[in-house]
Parts: sequence; C-alpha cells; structure tokens
Amino acid sequence: MAVKGNLRTPIVSVMGHVDHGKTTLLDKIRGSTVADGEAGAITQHIGATEVPIDVIVNKCGNPALRDKFIVPGLLFIDTPGHHAFTSLRSRGGALADLAIVIVDINEGFKPQTIESLQILKRFKTPFVVVANKIDRIHGWNPQRNMPFVASYNKQNERVKSELDRKFYEIVGELYNLGFNSERHDRINDFQRNVGIIPISAMTGEGIPDVLMVLLGLAQKFLEANLHYDANIPGVGTVLEVKEEKGLGTTIDVILYDGTLRKGDTIVVGSLGKPIQTKVRALLKPRPLTEIKSEEKFEQVSSVTAAIGVKISAPGLESALAGSPVRIATPETIDAITQEVQSEIEDVQIDTDSM
Ligand code: GDP
Repeated sequence: MAVKGNLRTPIVSVMGHVDHGKTTLLDKIRGSTVADGEAGAITQHIGATEVPIDVIVNKCGNPALRDKFIVPGLLFIDTPGHHAFTSLRSRGGALADLAIVIVDINEGFKPQTIESLQILKRFKTPFVVVANKIDRIHGWNPQRNMPFVASYNKQNERVKSELDRKFYEIVGELYNLGFNSERHDRINDFQRNVGIIPISAMTGEGIPDVLMVLLGLAQKFLEANLHYDANIPGVGTVLEVKEEKGLGTTIDVILYDGTLRKGDTIVVGSLGKPIQTKVRALLKPRPLTEIKSEEKFEQVSSVTAAIGVKISAPGLESALAGSPVRIATPETIDAITQEVQSEIEDVQIDTDSM
C-alpha cells in the first residue's frame, strides 16, 4: 500500500445512533469516488475502505494541498456503530485513530451517541461531528457533492436561518456534554473546539469537508501515533469472525502495525484460552474488475499496516471480535499468549462497565 515516510494510514470509525446515516455516509465516501471514475484509486480492504490522499485532495478541489499532507490517506472501518468502536481496541487504546460522530440534525443526539462522545473523550480520540440530513430541511436546494459553505450560500435566507437554528441546538447539546464546538469552517483551533460539519450523506453536500477535516485532525494530532515499523511482527485487532465457504471459520483483522505473513504463528483472543495457530492463507477482496472469477478473495503472501485482511487458519471457531491478534515465535509464544489473555480481560471489564 501507499506509504509516505513511515506513517501509516489513520484508521477512522463512524459512530452514531441507528438511522442517523452511518451506512449512507460510508457508501457515499466509497461510492462517490467510484462514480467519479476513480474506482481504481480507492482500495477495498477486508472490513475497511482506503481512500488515498490524492483522491481526497482532488475531491476537495485543491490538488495544491497535496504536499501539505504527510498521511497517505484514510482507512475507514466499514462496520459502523457503537459496538464496533467501543470493543475495538489496540494496545494504545481505541483501534480507531479518528472518529466521525454522525447525528441527524433534525433529531439531535440520542443516549447511545452521548455515550460514544464520552468514550471518545476518555480515549482522547480526535473526532468530528457531522450534522446529517440537511437536505431534509424544508425548502433545501440540493447541491450534489458540493462543499458545505458553497452549498449553504446557494440557499435562501429562510432555509439558512432554519439550518442555523438546528445547528445551534447541536452546539448547545455538545456544550451541555462538556464540549465547545463550532462550525468547522469557523474553527482556528481544533484542540479547543470540536468541529461540526453540516452534511447530507444522501446528496454528498459537505462530504469534501468531512474528508478534509479528518486529514487536518490526523495531521495535527496523530503524527506521533501513526509511526509504524514494517519490520516488526504484525499486531492487529479482530473485526469479525466469519464462516466462509471452502475456508471454514476465518477472522477479518485490521492490522495496525508491522507485517503479517502466510505461515506465521499467531495468537488470537477467544472467550476461553487464547488460540495459538498458524496462518494458512491471507486473503484480500478480489478487485471488482475481475468479476469473471468465481473466487471472492485473492491470496497474498504478506500484508503491512494499516490494512484490513482476512486470515484463514485452523482452530479459529472460538475467536472473539474485538480481541488482539499477535505474531509469536517459539521463544515468545508463552509471553504473548499471557499478554493477549490479559488484554482480553481488560476489554471485557471495560465493555461490561459501559
Ligand atoms: P445507519 O443506521 O446509521 O447506518 O443509517 P442509514 O445510513 O441506514 O440511514 C437511515 C435512513 O436515513 C436511510 O433510509 C437513509 O436513506 C436515510 N438517510 C441517510 N442519510 C440521509 C441524508 O443525508 N438525507 C436523507 N434525506 N436521508 C438520509
């Protein structure tokens, strides 16, 4: 994958109340790039979508920004939701480096989203709030895929003031939760203020802003966390445990550091004792262009962070979503198994207490 310097792609999670638009937003981020004829440029991983920096700066209509950014792009976890975020950990804390909190601007925050905000605060995860479904405001004149401010300026005064009214209700709710927030284009200091981006996941208005603000947050707050070392044994988190025809039980994993190879011995968290097994195959989605192929996946011999990959190996039936995946050698296997066991206990205690 594309890597600039030794910074890996930041991992982004989308959280929010059911029906507020997580899936539509992810589809839009994936789909609009396909519609623009840039299908080759985005990479579909297992459980994640990678949008490279070039695609983002083009989408934002400002290729001149290209050289300002040091991260290679953004990796969106495809499984949206509260659970995905709270139970997906890395050794450093949350698996996601960045988050999008989506809220229906017409409904405001729901209890589960408030809990998500509190978790983000606890993990100190930089995030942006997107106030979705602005196209539902009565009289809205949709401007497909336009940046928010350009679209806003095309609305009549009544629509603008209705948007402002709903927007400041969200600001008020965030204030009551202990966050200072403001519209993203009015913020100078993202450390003190949470950015709120009004969008429509349906029409694409505001989506360029979402990508740009995420890049800005990654650049400003994450540099130290994104250094990775391709030479160390891979470290990852299980996204999902899945039965696949012909392969048996497999695990979909986000690898966030190091390199994982076919044949490596891995230790995976489970409900009981950690599983020790050997990687039989590493699988990636087959590119859409190869539709003739019967097989959904293609095999690779190794993968390097950050990437989503499917692991086929014996004995994965009891693997646990959210748990760690580590590589071991005969010398390290006992210690690593111990570590995995205690990481699982931590995650379970934390998730139980929420
Ligand atoms: P999720 O449960 O958070 O993943 O929400 P979905 O993405 O499935 O969206 C729930 C419903 O809201 C679906 O019917 C979407 O078509 C609709 N929806 C999502 N985003 C928008 C939007 O920006 N505008 C409008 N009008 N509808 C939306």
